[in-house]
Amino acid sequence: MNKLKTKVRVVLFGPPGSGKGTFSSQIKKILPEIPHISTGDIFRENLKNETPLGLKAKEFMDKGELVPDEVTIDMVADRLGKEDVKEHGFILDGFPRTLNQTEALTQITDVDLLLLLDVNRDIITKRILGRYSCKSCGEIFNKYTLPPKVEGICDKCGAEIKFEQRSDDNEETLKNRLDAYEKNAKPIIKYYKKKKLLRKVNAENTLKLTENDIIKILEL
Ligand code: ADP
Ligand code: ZN
Repeated sequence: MNKLKTKVRVVLFGPPGSGKGTFSSQIKKILPEIPHISTGDIFRENLKNETPLGLKAKEFMDKGELVPDEVTIDMVADRLGKEDVKEHGFILDGFPRTLNQTEALTQITDVDLLLLLDVNRDIITKRILGRYSCKSCGEIFNKYTLPPKVEGICDKCGAEIKFEQRSDDNEETLKNRLDAYEKNAKPIIKYYKKKKLLRKVNAENTLKLTENDIIKILEL
């Protein structure tokens, strides 16, 4: 068998709830050292720690709006400049979200491909409004599509869990996030298609990809 590439620079793209997080953890099994860079996670982490960046982002996140580019782009440029990225590449999740961010990313780094996770809007709505996670180990569940085997108990670590949404996972905010996604996605997809870096994956069913699927998709 050929030796697999150990470095790949992927933009994961798709609407909220398309399974970007799940897909990233599957990539990690094959490329354990690749940094998974999620702008949403970085913002939430900063919010939790009440950093200046978090406080700036809060008012936008609470409404389901995009944090302004001047904040977001610098934050991503900073993260992509780190040593682990130079060595192993990245899975970028949640960025770029605007054409302006797309052009900024091109200035910051080359990418090998943009992976589009394709799902329709009804499926997404169910997934997101039902999702919750275990506070002890982070395992993700869904009230409608993926409940724990025993109600109230985490399958993975056995801790007690209850259905509790992320604060921006309510119906009104979700509508804004999906509208914003649809408006912004088109030109970004077109941009990468033109560069022949677009690759689509059907993500309507919960992603259960084998190692081989992933190796093929990422051209490792
Ligand atoms: P979603 O569940 O909508 O995919 P994320 O977890 O990626 O959301 O992000 C949560 C929030 O963080 C967004 O609603 C937005 O306010 C902010 N955010 C994340 N990524 C970006 C970005 N690239 N540009 C601007 N704002 C962002
Ligand atoms: Zn758990």
